[in-house]
Amino acid sequence: MALVIIVLARPAPVTAQTGPLKVAVETIVIGQSVMGQDLVVSCFGTGGRTALLAGGVHTGPEAVTVTLGLQVADELRTGRLAIPRGVRVCVLPALNPDGITLGTHTNFRGVDLNRNWVAKNWSPFAWHPSTGIASGGAEPLSEPETRALYQYILETRPDAVLVWHCCGALVEANQMPLAVALASAYGVAARLPYLDVWRAYTITGELIVSLDHLRIPAFDVELRQSNDTALKEHVAALTAMLRHLATAPVAARPAFSTPTLSPP
Ligand SMILES: [Zn+2]
Repeated sequence: MALVIIVLARPAPVTAQTGPLKVAVETIVIGQSVMGQDLVVSCFGTGGRTALLAGGVHTGPEAVTVTLGLQVADELRTGRLAIPRGVRVCVLPALNPDGITLGTHTNFRGVDLNRNWVAKNWSPFAWHPSTGIASGGAEPLSEPETRALYQYILETRPDAVLVWHCCGALVEANQMPLAVALASAYGVAARLPYLDVWRAYTITGELIVSLDHLRIPAFDVELRQSNDTALKEHVAALTAMLRHLATAPVAARPAFSTPTLSPP
């Protein structure tokens, strides 16, 4: 598995670093789903600060997030979405490709891939409005999809992680201050309200919470509609968010040693 070492660099002033069709692209297979489908990340640009964008954590009624991820990758590839100097953008359109194939919200084994992460409140018994009672898996990271993404995040240490969901029409951040700032910038540009505290229902073993433990800023973006990616709004929002990432002072993170993952 080819992985990339990210070196934090002091960002230069924000200017577009690439024109159309000149953007550097790297495609990485970070693992496979339960059914053996590749989990593919495409990275654009060469900057020292990396934003990782993930769609298709939930599929079925949230499959629009996969479409948006593919569209955003295309915008980045063609230069229609300009990457600020000093920034690199990596896109994982579908964490749950089996859910796309099967038309399900969960993975092949019926596990909710946003309930299977390393968090204090992880539970095998989870809940989501699309499925009712859902499986959080046999243990945190019991699924090949979540393990692959967690390992990729551990090895590449992105400076920010954005996860698309549908259809709550809001943004919410984990507890890292930069995450709050990035989610706010995204929300203002996409006209999606920032939600300070999620009270709708209990979310156990959540991805962005697991990234709190790694001190990685992360936020969820809930799209408005399942039948419209609203690409223009999200391109504007990504532009605002990436500009903020390029210029924001990044608080020093504690020395980081990569935890080893035990076999599932
Ligand atoms: Zn979701």
